[in-house]
Amino acid sequence: MKRIAIGQLQQETNTFNPRPTPRRDFEDYGWAEGDEVVTRYGDTDELAGFTSLPELFGESIEWVGLTRVKELAGGPIADAVVDEVVAGLRATLQSQAVDGVLYSLHGALASPTRPDVDGYLLSVLREIVGPAVPIIATLDLHANITRAMLAAADLLVGYHTFPHVDHESCGRRAAKAMAGFLRHGKGHRVSAVKLPMVVNAKGFATNGPLMAGIYQQLAAAEANGALATGVFMAQPWLDVPELGWTLYQAWCGDQPPLDFTALSEQCWEARLHNARSLPGPDEIADEALRLPGHPVVVSEGHDATNSGAPGDSTRLIAALLRRDWPEAGALSYCIDPAAVKRCHETGAGAEIKLRFGGEADPFSEPLECVVKVESVGEIVFVHNGHAGHNLRVNMGRSAVVRCGSVTILLAERKGLGSTPRLYETAGLDPRCYKFVSAKSPEGFRHDYAAIGAHFLYCGAPGCAWEQIGQLPFEHANRPLFPLDDPASTLAASWAWQQNLTK
Ligand SMILES: [Zn+2]
Repeated sequence: MKRIAIGQLQQETNTFNPRPTPRRDFEDYGWAEGDEVVTRYGDTDELAGFTSLPELFGESIEWVGLTRVKELAGGPIADAVVDEVVAGLRATLQSQAVDGVLYSLHGALASPTRPDVDGYLLSVLREIVGPAVPIIATLDLHANITRAMLAAADLLVGYHTFPHVDHESCGRRAAKAMAGFLRHGKGHRVSAVKLPMVVNAKGFATNGPLMAGIYQQLAAAEANGALATGVFMAQPWLDVPELGWTLYQAWCGDQPPLDFTALSEQCWEARLHNARSLPGPDEIADEALRLPGHPVVVSEGHDATNSGAPGDSTRLIAALLRRDWPEAGALSYCIDPAAVKRCHETGAGAEIKLRFGGEADPFSEPLECVVKVESVGEIVFVHNGHAGHNLRVNMGRSAVVRCGSVTILLAERKGLGSTPRLYETAGLDPRCYKFVSAKSPEGFRHDYAAIGAHFLYCGAPGCAWEQIGQLPFEHANRPLFPLDDPASTLAASWAWQQNLTK
């Protein structure tokens, strides 16, 4: 019988979103301590894979539940939330010894005073459990790997899919490695290389022509015995030191499984994929009108709640309102708690002059128009798809309003912008509309694959602007593509390489 600590602290932080993320936003996704981590959340996300450890190890496991908290993406996490999670795990682990730690992180989590919360949390874990106890962290493929994370964790196990649909298998890969450590001990090697580049996610799907070959190499290396391999593409809207892609591998024996020189070159070439700017809202709206069939599903990437933007940009909605839409019309959504409150007060059926959007998003203005309140309700659903496995999403109260041929779903709190379930939960059928907005840079293609007639990408200034170099970075190490144009991966002296024995 072994005692394994298990926990989760996840958010993809967007440091350009001026609205910080309070405790309440984490509570929306469930806040669990102690036994509830496994009894309530043991079949969600990476924890669903962690909990396969008993069958992989061949012995029963006593779980020691550390805090489980999650919020998909948003502005910097409140320092108080980090302090509370860390105090909780200190209290739990200082009162009882464990044989290992399995922890689910995103890898791009920042608070106002801590640019690398993931590295900080792993360092605290290491300080408490000491050097011998294995610590394995799982990470989103958009993690920004830091030297602190590499130093503190024995193994970093990242998603191999984008859109992200391998939460459970990622957790299982971590559990398998933990079973090996418990049986045979550590003693493995870790190597990681930082590349001075970030990219907008468009076109970087791991099953697409640009990246599929790279991720197939990772899977093949793990099938041949590597402990873990990763190409971490880094959340780009994260203005912190050490920002950039990271190649990662961990193995036993002499020969590293991956040729990092060749892999670096392949990744470096890929950086140029999104060099051209995307069409703006008016161009996209016109193109959608020209295309036959429906729905035309449009990435509103500049305001992607999936990338941590506030979800209340009005740039695209304003372009929709300037046009007449066929079929059931155009469908979009906007996060605005004050507008939702107003609609709930007036009730369904009322016609009101409504001001909405453009409050948190620094790149757009509020809109004001006469709308009919079609319905009021709330948006709560269980998500299985890109970015969640059995994940309960709670976006608070909602209202559906209509202005001409444009239907807008208003929600109190941000959530998944990449799934049609968002609209369906509010009683809207995206299949009937000519135009449907998804606040997601790329992952929406997975969840809309079955219903989308066409997929377009809209560009505009926003907290997740695809023209990353236009945003006011202050803390990222330079040079960094596309803020700068380093001549090669070696042209950035800050971009480290780490070789460690664990
Ligand atoms: Zn991601």
